[in-house]
Amino acid sequence: MEGVVAGGTARVIDETTCIWCLRKILESEDVPPEHIVPEAVGCPPGLLLDQREVCPTCNHGRLAALNAVLASEFDMVRLIHGVKGKTSRPNYLRSRTNIRMRPGSSGPEIFLNAGPGAVPNSGAGYLPPPTGHERDVRDVIFKVEGEIATVSGRTSFGQHPDFSAAVHAIGLEFVAKLMGRGFVLDPRLGPVRDFVLKGGRREIRTRSANRVADIGARGP
Ligand SMILES: [Zn+2]
Repeated sequence: MEGVVAGGTARVIDETTCIWCLRKILESEDVPPEHIVPEAVGCPPGLLLDQREVCPTCNHGRLAALNAVLASEFDMVRLIHGVKGKTSRPNYLRSRTNIRMRPGSSGPEIFLNAGPGAVPNSGAGYLPPPTGHERDVRDVIFKVEGEIATVSGRTSFGQHPDFSAAVHAIGLEFVAKLMGRGFVLDPRLGPVRDFVLKGGRREIRTRSANRVADIGARGP
């Protein structure tokens, strides 16, 4: 089989059909390893598809967008648990309305504005109050019992329209790792491929979608 590339021809490797878009990946293409779990969410070492299973167009395009969705949805969880970001950079949380988090010397430092007014000069800069947005931290309760102060609140998790597609992408890539490229190229898995590439709130859903996660922080 022949493929045309930049005015010349390059051999097409039949064994390197992209498991997502199903196009043949040219031998001349630089194909980076695909992290099955996004690095930003703490991909374990070696959990890669490194046999040219995913074309660079999918890797840097749709899958990168889905990785960003997961990084955003798991933002608080990964910071609380000290998960390093891509290239081992520490994580910072700035994408929710009224909370900021950053790594501290003895654990995450949390700046939370329960409202009703803005805090112009918090330790993390201007901090808005809750706005009614789903990514607010709401129902904040501050309790002191003896030497222990407890702060709790509620926020959303899994609300992004592409959240379910992003989780399905991990699922199919994990199956590819376990069972091989040929297995996941089976047309019966076409609906999963289609759902991941096109996304949206469709009939394939995870049980965690639309669930509201409880969060809490505790300190002396
Ligand atoms: Zn592709």
